Amino acid sequence: MQEVKRVLQNGEHFNFVCKMCGNCCNEMLIKLTPYDIIRLSAGLNLPTHEFIPQYVLFLKLQDTGWFLPVLKHVKKGECLFKRGKKCRIHPYRPLPCRLFPVGRSEENFVLQMSLYCKGLLTGCRWNLNSWLEASEAITYLEMSKLYYDFMEEILQSYELKTISDKQYKLFFKIVYDFDGARLDLTCSGINDKTKVKYCLAMGKWFLERFSEPHLLEELSEEQFLDAYEKQGRMVLKQLIEQQ
Ligand code: SF4
Ligand code: SF4
Repeated sequence: MQEVKRVLQNGEHFNFVCKMCGNCCNEMLIKLTPYDIIRLSAGLNLPTHEFIPQYVLFLKLQDTGWFLPVLKHVKKGECLFKRGKKCRIHPYRPLPCRLFPVGRSEENFVLQMSLYCKGLLTGCRWNLNSWLEASEAITYLEMSKLYYDFMEEILQSYELKTISDKQYKLFFKIVYDFDGARLDLTCSGINDKTKVKYCLAMGKWFLERFSEPHLLEELSEEQFLDAYEKQGRMVLKQLIEQQ
């Protein structure tokens, strides 16, 4: 879909009202963060290990080897959550859907102007702050920054393309699949932001500890789970204290 992006200057105003046409839910690549996955799973009342296989596709970035999760589409290009012209998980929609017609480009916020969206140039007057507040995007942005900073740090410190398949799968499970990777830790009273922080901290711990393929291979499954659970309990305890 053809569109022009223009950097939103500080304090700049734009007019927008959503016409509820549903056009923006077709063929858009919706990148997900761990926070999006946790919120969407909560909205559907599914644990992340059931949500992920049904709704998420992982794209492998050729240059870095990172697995980027995106929302699955149905065959004709529509998002799986589109019902008629509406979003069936609207209160839990991921960050790119919240921000639209605002988007991100590197460090900037941009206005995405496209022929398929007739909502721009009409309706209410917004600036960036009022738009972020109205779309309840602030926490999503905070969690997105945490995730992308983590990704940058990992990519600078580890050559992901060289780690074994077993490590690779475990690392991404720990980062994206909170419920599937948390074993039997008691997680009552833990909020969604803390869940993301836990996933990222455990992902980092995993690579620090097992960055050499043989380190993981030498452990029995039981020994690995033991170390993972011990570390998980400690990290969770610290994070809950900071909540
Ligand atoms: S394309 Fe624009 S007007 Fe249509 S639903 Fe999306 S945001 Fe609203
Ligand atoms: S999650 Fe909802 S708002 Fe986002 S693309 Fe899918 S249907 Fe549209």
